[in-house]
Amino acid sequence: KVNEVIEQESQTQSQLQQNIKAKKQEKLKTKQKVELISSKLLELQEKYRQETGKRPIYNKKETKGFKEWLEKQKILTLKKSENIRKSEIKEEWELLLEKWINEANENEISKEIKEELLNIIRKYRKSKAIYWRIIQILKRKNLPIKETEEIEGLLKKLEKITGVQVEIFKNLRAFRAFYNDNIRWYKKSITAERQKFMKHLSQKLSYLKKIKKTQKVIKENWKEILKENLYKNITLSLKEKSIINQILQKEKLTEVEKKELISILSKLPTEYLISLLGNDFKKHTQNYIKWGWDFDQGVKRLMLNKFISLKENVEINKNPKTRQKLYSDEESKECGRCHQIKPYNEYGARIMGGKKILFSRCKKCRIDIKQIYQYNNKVKILRNVYNGKLKGKCQICSTDVKRLPSLEFHHKDPKLKGVKSFSLYRNWEKTKKQIEKEKATILCVNCHTKQRSKHYNNYEKIIKECKLDSLSSNNQIFQYVNNKLPNADYEARRQVTRNIKKQIVINYLYGGKCVGCRDISTKNNLPALQFHHRDKENPYKMSKTYVNLRNLETKEIIKKLKQENCITLCGNCHKMEQSTHFKNYYEKIVRPEYWNLIKKDYERIEKNIENFKFKSESNIPTLN
Ligand SMILES: [Zn+2]
Ligand SMILES: [Zn+2]
Ligand SMILES: [Zn+2]
Ligand SMILES: [Zn+2]
Repeated sequence: KVNEVIEQESQTQSQLQQNIKAKKQEKLKTKQKVELISSKLLELQEKYRQETGKRPIYNKKETKGFKEWLEKQKILTLKKSENIRKSEIKEEWELLLEKWINEANENEISKEIKEELLNIIRKYRKSKAIYWRIIQILKRKNLPIKETEEIEGLLKKLEKITGVQVEIFKNLRAFRAFYNDNIRWYKKSITAERQKFMKHLSQKLSYLKKIKKTQKVIKENWKEILKENLYKNITLSLKEKSIINQILQKEKLTEVEKKELISILSKLPTEYLISLLGNDFKKHTQNYIKWGWDFDQGVKRLMLNKFISLKENVEINKNPKTRQKLYSDEESKECGRCHQIKPYNEYGARIMGGKKILFSRCKKCRIDIKQIYQYNNKVKILRNVYNGKLKGKCQICSTDVKRLPSLEFHHKDPKLKGVKSFSLYRNWEKTKKQIEKEKATILCVNCHTKQRSKHYNNYEKIIKECKLDSLSSNNQIFQYVNNKLPNADYEARRQVTRNIKKQIVINYLYGGKCVGCRDISTKNNLPALQFHHRDKENPYKMSKTYVNLRNLETKEIIKKLKQENCITLCGNCHKMEQSTHFKNYYEKIVRPEYWNLIKKDYERIEKNIENFKFKSESNIPTLN
């Protein structure tokens, strides 16, 4: 009897499970249907917009015109789709694309890829027709059983589309939109894209195919397995998991990384290791002898070392750059860019449908990406403004994109001075147009600063001729200025005095030159010289300090600058030094011919800054 009860129980349970499973599938299918409908509806709205130039939705409701147009479409497509084949009419963009592919030569697209692309276009057309058919059926209110069966059949056909094909579909859809947008007024712009688009398509397809192949070959990729199992492990700390994850990103592990990985893993019991590393590792452990209840740590190290080496040698050259699953658990997840595991609060989020969705990249990476984007925009603007007339260079000293961070836009019209930095976030072409409208030009920080220093430019000669030195008092300096400029206003005299003191200080402490480049000096551009703290904790301390210092006696200024470990840098060098994003990512920003120049430039600046030594104490003027 007991057995009977148990059997009944288990039967009802399995029934229940089946029910749940069926319901789940049903849900999934309706979800797919809804998605199909909504994407189709969007496409229809787009088509309506293009055909009539009117808006399909107003005040969140379908407009009257759009509803009428939809009805008309229905009648049209109903007629069309008695047979799906009939609705497989080639659209104009398809004809053009097929023509391009057929005409491309062997160098552009290989024969194999050609055929495959044509095949994918055919597939795309077919699936589109299938979608249409499904939409039509779903639009009827009461679905007869026969029709639901048809939908099932159609959906099955759609399932046969491979991942690679879906990827290429995306490009086809984009091309279709591009074609329809431009065909009426900008026919030429379509032809202009031919080469680029063909190249992109064929490269993408070849790449996708290559990835697919390697996925088949590797049966157990130990890195993938370890990564997927990592979150289940509760003995490893978050930090250790993070380290493992970062190491696993590498195509090939260095000896140091291998050692680090092994030292973390070897602390775990072998059972855990097997659960982390999979079946292949289990087999591997059978080659070793266990003396106690588990292998001793030394043996485990040996075992892991051998295992990883074996695996690495097999898996090398097999392009593991496939899309990897990102780690996540209740409180943290892996960033899709830097692959560090970070707590959720280090990710920004967007709200979608009332739900908070975390970005896949951490805040720091998003800032990096934004910065790179802005630098890229800046390069485009510099190169193209006034049809490239300015050649992306400072119009006075020819500093070019090698020192991109130090290039600025300068307005000749002083009224526009307020618009200092153009928005580099938005469309670069808009910003370029604004710059042209405002008649701005390109200057580097150094030249820009000099041009802005009105008083310096007016009295440059008087400043340079001043023979006063580090022992001169403020009074002496002020008297000199008063004698030379009896009629100048107060502000002019004050500025000249400040310039003279700055000149004395820089000549005395730094030999009168920018410590970084040694090109900018008190002789050729005093205004451009700035002060920079070598100790990096507080980069903003510096500018404030000199403003605070400049009214002190010259001797005092010298003493303080030395105490605070300040050096002088020209505006350009200082900007370079501060632009860490440019320093880290210039390869993503400027053309390869600049890379080496930039690397050397940074090396020189940094080496000079590091090596600079103040004169010994005995040479410092005596202070009262
Ligand atoms: Zn990140
Ligand atoms: Zn310049
Ligand atoms: Zn410099
Ligand atoms: Zn600085």
